Amino acid sequence: MFANRRDYEKMIDISKIRIDFPILSRKVYGKPLVYLDNAATTQKPKSVVENIEEMYYTLNANIHRGVHFLSQQATDAHEAARVTIQNFIGAKSSNEIVFTRGTTESINLIASSYCRAFCKAGDEIIVSEMEHHSNIVPWQLQEEISGVKLRVIPINDQGELIIEEFKKLINPRTKLVSITHISNALGTINDIEEIIKIAHQNNVPVLIDAAQSVQHVPLDVQKLDCDFLVFSAHKAYGPTGMGVLYGKEEWLNKLPPYHGGGEMIASVSFEKTTFNELPFKFEAGTPDYVGSTSMAAGLDYISEIGIENIAKYEHELLEYATGELLKIDGLKIYGTSKHKTSVVSFLVDGIHHYDMGMLLDKMGIAVRTGHHCTEPLMNRLQIDGTVRASFAFYNTKEEIDLLVAGIKRVASMF
Ligand code: PMP
Repeated sequence: MFANRRDYEKMIDISKIRIDFPILSRKVYGKPLVYLDNAATTQKPKSVVENIEEMYYTLNANIHRGVHFLSQQATDAHEAARVTIQNFIGAKSSNEIVFTRGTTESINLIASSYCRAFCKAGDEIIVSEMEHHSNIVPWQLQEEISGVKLRVIPINDQGELIIEEFKKLINPRTKLVSITHISNALGTINDIEEIIKIAHQNNVPVLIDAAQSVQHVPLDVQKLDCDFLVFSAHKAYGPTGMGVLYGKEEWLNKLPPYHGGGEMIASVSFEKTTFNELPFKFEAGTPDYVGSTSMAAGLDYISEIGIENIAKYEHELLEYATGELLKIDGLKIYGTSKHKTSVVSFLVDGIHHYDMGMLLDKMGIAVRTGHHCTEPLMNRLQIDGTVRASFAFYNTKEEIDLLVAGIKRVASMF
């Protein structure tokens, strides 16, 4: 349901929303841009770009260590951004919000620090068959470093996790479950509540990869009771090179630092170095205060529309696109779970995904093709890639019509 009348009006007036995203009115190859690659990265509203400008023009100074006015203002802005993020995901304390360079770095941080502190050779980490490479490879690096083993939850033909198989994988050697909330390649929304419940019944902590969910569905880390949750700003209307690691304070306190350097220390000597308190223990080097405040501006933009409104509208786009695409001869959708976000992965008989993507591009339609950094998933599906259209709240049904017409045109060429 729409939260209130004002939100409803704003929500249905997509043309007003689109004005906030100047890039959406540009042309490519002389055609209006139809941007349907939002799962890769979202476009940025003016408020985010204006924040970047304002930070550099009026507030730029290195933070935390400065006594001067500018440094203090920049520090306040950076720490206020941390609180915005805390509130956005419902964390108990801003100490539980660690700034990173993105989802990938957040997972690498946990893989490294967690395995160093809690795992020995033969211990097991559970992931799933639909993970992004960034939730596979950091654990594989740990297989070499700490001797942990990866166990993999399989999926069914609809692209859903098989929970019964998950239960069978858990055993006394299981040390962590690291799982995506929403699949970037299929759009499946996993039942993370159930996964967290089962893992916790077995005293196993859970990391949630929210790279594809924080911008689409409401998240409350305290309600979910997840132990760690990670996401990237650039997929949530914010800047590139910025991300978040949420961790329960009790866990973050127990984990050793990941990077060493300035900011993350309490005192340094050649005899003994001690570390800073949370969250700074994990934030070595000059913090990206422009990135953090701009990420907060992106999340504020989401909050202004209302994440419930976004979820509802994007679901409408998903249903419309699915219905229209399925009318095309020879088109098969990969990922047919009942619980999906606004991602449609497909192939058309006899047309390579790359050719489809290239030809759509010439019509001004930006989609993604390939394995979407999920090669093990593609192997499971016995394909080498798909065409993926992924929608955001600024997309329209008219753009979906253009996509459908474009696909039909490409099909007629083959
Ligand atoms: N996990 C998922 C589910 C993703 O979709 C992505 C980005 N495609 C990542 C992790 C990695 O995010 P980033 O490249 O921003 O670190």
